Amino acid sequence: MKFLIFIGLLVLLYWYFAKRKKKLAKSKNRELIEEMVFDENCQSYIRKKEAIKMELNGKTYYFCSKKCVEEFLEKIPKLQS
Ligand SMILES: [Zn+2]
Repeated sequence: MKFLIFIGLLVLLYWYFAKRKKKLAKSKNRELIEEMVFDENCQSYIRKKEAIKMELNGKTYYFCSKKCVEEFLEKIPKLQS
């Protein structure tokens, strides 16, 4: 009888951890999908997946479109002077 309880506990533990693992994987996925970055040019948040990444002076910038990259590059000399 004690042995059966032990088996039952093991099954419960296994079920608990399996469920937890699934939940963790799901929340990790959601984070990846909803990760947002800031577009310095048009001052709006965009999805990192869809953003254009650009490194400048050791800083990483993200833009929503090529047009924003060009506009931002035009602004930079003004920002630095
Ligand atoms: Zn933009």
